[in-house]
Amino acid sequence: MANKDYYGILGVTKSASDDEIKRAYRKLAKKYHPDANPDNKAEAEAKFKEVSEAYEVLSDKQKRSNYDNFGNPDGPQFGGGQGGHYSYGGSGFGGSGFEGFGFDDFGFGSFSDIFSAAFGGGTRSRRRNGPRKGTDMKANIEITFEESYLGTEKTISVNRNRECPKCHGNGTRDGSEAHVCSVCKGTGQIRQVVTTPFGQMATQKICSNCGGEGKIIDDPCPNCKGKGYTRQTSKIKVKIPAGINDGQTIVLRGEGEPGEKGGPKGDLYINIHVKKHDIYTRKADHVLCDIPITFTGATLGTEIEVPMVDGTKQKYTIPAGTQTGTKFVIKNKGFKSVNNKNWSGDFVFTVVVQVPKRLTQEQRELITKLALTMNEQPPIKKRGIFG
Ligand SMILES: [Zn+2]
Ligand SMILES: [Zn+2]
Repeated sequence: MANKDYYGILGVTKSASDDEIKRAYRKLAKKYHPDANPDNKAEAEAKFKEVSEAYEVLSDKQKRSNYDNFGNPDGPQFGGGQGGHYSYGGSGFGGSGFEGFGFDDFGFGSFSDIFSAAFGGGTRSRRRNGPRKGTDMKANIEITFEESYLGTEKTISVNRNRECPKCHGNGTRDGSEAHVCSVCKGTGQIRQVVTTPFGQMATQKICSNCGGEGKIIDDPCPNCKGKGYTRQTSKIKVKIPAGINDGQTIVLRGEGEPGEKGGPKGDLYINIHVKKHDIYTRKADHVLCDIPITFTGATLGTEIEVPMVDGTKQKYTIPAGTQTGTKFVIKNKGFKSVNNKNWSGDFVFTVVVQVPKRLTQEQRELITKLALTMNEQPPIKKRGIFG
C-alpha cells in the first residue's frame, strides 16, 4: 500500500498543483471507469481503483505531504516497538508474521490444540504453513539538536539476510529454479483426515518430503547452502525529517529480514535520539532559550541579536523597562511539524537581566548618582493566584 508511485499513476510531476492533479484524475477516472470498458472490465476496475487511491492521497494536503516526506500517506510511524518483536537471529521462532494464514481452511477458531495433539510441535508446524512476513529489525541513530531542527540524512549499516547474489535466491548451485516437490505438488502441505473427539476432520500436514518448502533443491548453492539468502551488511540512507523529536521512530518498510515462502520483508524501526544542546531546549515544537541582556539595556531598551538554531542571527528590539524573566516570541522559528509541513512552532527566548558584578570607578560613581535619585524601597508586590 505504501511506496506506490502515486504521481506516476496519475501521470503528473511531484510539483503538480491541486488543479493539475484533479484534472489528471478526472481524465483517468473517465478512461478507466468499468462501465466505459465492457471488454476488459476487471483490468479497468483495477486501474480505476489505483487512480482513485492516488487521487485520494494527492488531493489531501496532509496525506500528500506525508507521502512526499515518508513515502506513506499516514506519515512516519512513530511509537516504535509495535509488539517489540526484534530478533536478529535468522532461526528464532516468535511468529511476528503469523497473521492468520493457514487456519482459515479448517473453518473454525481454536484448532491449534487439536493440531498440536495430532502432529506434535504445534508452533513450529503452524508457522510453516503459509507465507510469513520477515522479522522486523531495530536500529538507533543519534543526531544533534540542529539536525533535528533542519532535518538530515544519515547512513547506517544493517546486517541482515538478503538474497544470495550467487544463486539469486533460488538456493541452487547454478541459480536455476529448484524443482517442485512431487509429493505435495509445491504446496508444502498434504491433506489428511484425522479422527478427533469432534469426529473426522480434514486437516493439512506439513509435507515431509520437502519439509513444507514445496520445492526440492538437489544441488544446493555453495554460497548460501541452499537457503537462498546470506547474511549481508547493507548501507541504508535514512532521511530524517526536520522537526523530528527525541524518541520518535522512523519505519522503513521492507528493510528488515526477508519474508518466508513469498511473505513480505520485515520492517526496520529506527529510533531517533536527539543530543542535548548547550543553549536550546525543546518544548513541543517550540525552541526555548535564555538570552542575557545588560541591566542598562533592560532599563533603557536595546536592540539585541538572537542566535537562531539554523545559525543565523535575528535582530530583536527589547523595549525599555523589560524585567528579567520576560519571554519574547519569534513566531514560526521553532521546529517544523513533522506531520504538517505548513506549521511550525515558535522561538521563545527568556530575557535574563545581568547585574554587573564588577564596576569601574566611573561606572560606580554613575550608578551611585543614579541610586540617589531612586533611593526609595520599591513596594512589595502582591502575589497573583499563581505566585
Ligand atoms: Zn513437498
Ligand atoms: Zn545461494
